[in-house]
Amino acid sequence: MEFNASVKNALTEEIKKGIISHAYIVEGIHGVGKKHFAREMAKVILCERENKPCGSCGSCEKVLNSSHPDLHFYSCEGSSFKVAQVREIRKSVSMPPNDGEYGVFVLDGAHNMTVAAQNALLKVFEEPPKGTVFFILTEKREALLPTVVSRGRIISLSPVSDGEIRAFLKERFPKKSEEETEAAVRLACGSAGKGEEFFEKQNKTAIDSALKLAEGIYAGAGRYKLYTTVLSYTKKREDFLRLLPFLEEAAHDVAVYKRFGKEGTILPLDKLKTYGQRIGRKASAELLDAIIATDIALKSNANLNASLTELCGKITEILG
Ligand SMILES: [Zn+2]
Repeated sequence: MEFNASVKNALTEEIKKGIISHAYIVEGIHGVGKKHFAREMAKVILCERENKPCGSCGSCEKVLNSSHPDLHFYSCEGSSFKVAQVREIRKSVSMPPNDGEYGVFVLDGAHNMTVAAQNALLKVFEEPPKGTVFFILTEKREALLPTVVSRGRIISLSPVSDGEIRAFLKERFPKKSEEETEAAVRLACGSAGKGEEFFEKQNKTAIDSALKLAEGIYAGAGRYKLYTTVLSYTKKREDFLRLLPFLEEAAHDVAVYKRFGKEGTILPLDKLKTYGQRIGRKASAELLDAIIATDIALKSNANLNASLTELCGKITEILG
């Protein structure tokens, strides 16, 4: 199944006519398929035959096996591209392509690039050597410097409809139950990749743990049980960091439900009704804030034990 097929087809036609920009800024939400899009377009650019992408020439095959010497993928390490990476990118850009006329450079996670990293790369965006094509993948163009945005052609990938995601997931994971597939569709929010992630084992565990934690918080298990559950993560920083976004999602669901009576993304409506009875509108918003604050603190390396204890304190304070 191909998403954003019309955008892909239009650009393919252009490239076949030889209209190739030196930089494309591919914008779209997390998991919408930006990387896949860049790879498909690289295949068109690098294909050796007339009918691009033929899918069977040496070049097309190398793109498929991720072994093409002229297709370079770079991904933000941590919070931004590191100086060493930027240096490496600039170095490879300055070298002529190995096989053909073009060298394709995909920069993934560009929304995380610091201003310094963007400035360091700006030089190559401004005057790239002949045959250089950049695909700058970003969740939002506002995260890029205007000078970077103005150097590229913007391609927006649209969120996918629930119906399309449902069909995609049923095809990918035919053994999953209706209930699980629906939960994945809800959580996907227009991103097929996010829907897929739902079924990945590690995430499945994180989601289950997050839902259990949400149950402990919102279903009124009592202070003792809440503390034991939360504090059981004191030695499992990675596990806790992995479940936090899903706990945030659950808290967000409750807050939205209390305010607008709308159904959620991770919590089914029956759970929202139960949880919603136990908590006021203001408290639900405060709880969401407390969980987000914990996430932010932990990401800036706050002590896990202290953060968890603080979170427990806040929860009991908010729930009264
Ligand atoms: Zn080909």
